[in-house]
Amino acid sequence: MLIVSGNTKVLFDPLYENNYDRYQLVPAAMQRDLLAGKPPFDDIDAVFVSHHHGDHFTPELMLQYLLSQPTVRLYAPMQAVAALRSAIREAGADEENLAERIVGIALENGDPAMTMDADDLSIGVVRIPHSGWPESRTDIENLSFRVTLDEGTTVTHFGDADANLQHFEPYRDYWSAATTDLAVPPYWFFQSAAGHEILDDIVRSEQSLGTHVPVELSEADTDNLADYDLLTQPGERRRIVVSPRP
Ligand SMILES: [Zn+2]
Repeated sequence: MLIVSGNTKVLFDPLYENNYDRYQLVPAAMQRDLLAGKPPFDDIDAVFVSHHHGDHFTPELMLQYLLSQPTVRLYAPMQAVAALRSAIREAGADEENLAERIVGIALENGDPAMTMDADDLSIGVVRIPHSGWPESRTDIENLSFRVTLDEGTTVTHFGDADANLQHFEPYRDYWSAATTDLAVPPYWFFQSAAGHEILDDIVRSEQSLGTHVPVELSEADTDNLADYDLLTQPGERRRIVVSPRP
């Protein structure tokens, strides 16, 4: 996902190559433009990776990208950064130069939120367990980034967060501290009462856009998702309505 506000641009989970036979891949031509920094993927400020799963992040592609776009910074969980470092060593790339642009986020479940500023970005991040919790994928470091571009537009990207209130409740103050203009939850947040409560009462997003939608939806899912805004086609766009700040 590409987010643009004025001259500031960021990408979320842009480079991956496994669709697990279920999800939309980035089309080859779009991926080529992205790697080459061609419009609209020119002058990207930062890339955010939610977690190290093949439908969100491929280390070798990210390395290729960082090498071809020498001013872009990367923010990613340590698990993804470790995989990227292996790819860097394997390729014999200049580790020192790259390390300056890679920000590894070391967060455990339940840790306080982190916030940081970088040029035109204000960044907040919390670790939220991956969906499937507590039965499966508990070892995956899944991050939810809240990014304010240009001091104006704030987007919260959930990664593959588990839609359970107890992961979000402890961060009420963190979420109240900034207005999320656009929340980008995985579509399963629209399918449970807890997911709605998280979006409406905790994150309190002005606008929500569901992602991670399987290419083939069951009839039941098509019905229960009919009222929500979902991203399903590569390249489709939305306008983010920025609400006035108090
Ligand atoms: Zn995942």
